[in-house]
Amino acid sequence: MSDKFDVIVVGSGPAGYVAAIRAAQLGLKTACVEKWRNKDGQGVNGGTCLNVGCIPSKALLDSSYKYHEAKDDLTVHGISTSDVKIDIPAMVARKDKIINQLTGGVAALFKANGVTSLFGTGKLLANRKVEVTDFEGKTTVYEADNVILASGSSPINIPVAPVDNKIIVNSTGALEFTDVPKRLGVIGAGVIGLELGSVWNRVGSQVVVLEALDSFLAIMDQQIAKEARKILTKQGLDIRTSCRVTGSEVKGEEVVVTFLDKDGNEQKETFDKLIVCVGRRPFTEDLLAADSGVNLDERGFIYVNDLCSTNAPGVWAVGDVVRGPMLAHKGSEEGVMVAERIAGQKTVMNYDIIPNVIYTHPEVAAVGKTEEQIKASGEAYNVGTFPFSVNGRAMAANETQGLVKIIAHAETDRILGAHIVGPNAADLVQQVAIAMEFGSSAEDLGMIIFGHPTLSEAVKEAALGVHGHAIHAVNKKKR
Ligand code: FAD
Ligand code: AMP
Repeated sequence: MSDKFDVIVVGSGPAGYVAAIRAAQLGLKTACVEKWRNKDGQGVNGGTCLNVGCIPSKALLDSSYKYHEAKDDLTVHGISTSDVKIDIPAMVARKDKIINQLTGGVAALFKANGVTSLFGTGKLLANRKVEVTDFEGKTTVYEADNVILASGSSPINIPVAPVDNKIIVNSTGALEFTDVPKRLGVIGAGVIGLELGSVWNRVGSQVVVLEALDSFLAIMDQQIAKEARKILTKQGLDIRTSCRVTGSEVKGEEVVVTFLDKDGNEQKETFDKLIVCVGRRPFTEDLLAADSGVNLDERGFIYVNDLCSTNAPGVWAVGDVVRGPMLAHKGSEEGVMVAERIAGQKTVMNYDIIPNVIYTHPEVAAVGKTEEQIKASGEAYNVGTFPFSVNGRAMAANETQGLVKIIAHAETDRILGAHIVGPNAADLVQQVAIAMEFGSSAEDLGMIIFGHPTLSEAVKEAALGVHGHAIHAVNKKKR
């Protein structure tokens, strides 16, 4: 094998592996370096997303929801069940099987597209050279015309709750419990904390979520966040905002967590397991030689411009390791953009339209600006909302919680944002994302013919509601 490539990608998460595949499709001689090893010590692709992130968490969310449904939610349909049991090791093993299928799928795609897969740790040296140290410690230096850094992120650790992987775990450990913790503490009411808290709540844990901020889901539209909080609380998640964890002490098989409540009083709670989900940080350990020429920003992200170009010529960076939301699809699109740019195309990426989903039940999903952001910008806007409680398909499915909210510019009527808490919100919000990408007005969306009966009709009705035209709800604003 020649040691010179057109493109070397470091990291094979959704940002890196997608970049590598697209570069190879465009005829570039491409290699992808990955240091991840599975439980058997073998190198695997897929990064956080496939191994310990998006996919395993959704596998457990789906399994735990099916259990909850079979146990508690079917009587309304006239179905009675008894003695419904869950086998936690089987649930976790199913998750592992899906991981294997998908990581194997990336390896197969690499092969089919002619991407050279290198296992080991990649370090960027000066002049686009990449040193790869394999699992046996052998070092090889490769050269490339372009290098794409896609080293991802890792969970943030906090000294007040150090992970011991026994009682105190991070998101990775929380995917591996072998039985149901009776009392489960979660630090951080972000996306990951709520998803993992939901998994274990559904299979029987008493879950307390401690969140330092006083607002819940501060980055989401607050009308939707309030509704989501109400629904999740009803499900049994004990969400406590304004509660900052200040210490923890593992005593035998349990952990005593100390936190300051909203009045500044010290409180204590005892848990059998504690999940620390206080965010993720960019991962750049062992990635950059001192003379690589790549700069980090003040928060530790690799500094890039809008096109994901670093300040070292021919070196690019994509995904969680650069600014922007830490979302798999954001990194993948950056990967495509960079590969196409390297191949001479003029691809750009629209950072304003990136959907964001919390996979609780029901799901919470958003695209574009929140009402709070629009208000703060001073733009005049109109809002349309539509509740699932009056949507026929939602009633048929007994999934009537939540609403669709669409916000449009008051003068141009262009859709500025869509926010949904409700059944299949992840897929519904994508419909508005597509409309937004085509520059749709709320009126355009409202004029599209939607099949009946569908959950999607709630999207159409919310769009109609922007101008007070919703048919199946009483409009606040009449026209
Ligand atoms: P990563 O996926 O972190 O991959 C980086 C890869 O680079 C890793 O495999 C790492 O081993 C490798 N690497 C790092 N340094 C080197 C080196 N020097 N040499 C070789 N290899 C190296 N996002 C969503 O969009 N939807 C979700 O539903 C979702 N759910 C999540 C649930 C959980 C529990 C977690 C933890 C995250 C979730 N995310 C979700 C976030 C998502 O996983 C990340 O945004 C995404 O994985 C980032 O992709 P990436 O390619 O930038 O980095
Ligand atoms: P996210 O960044 O979306 O994963 O969310 C992480 C959440 O953890 C944020 O909402 C933080 O406010 C919260 N958080 C961080 N440190 C603490 C702490 N010591 N106690 C409670 N919550 C915390």
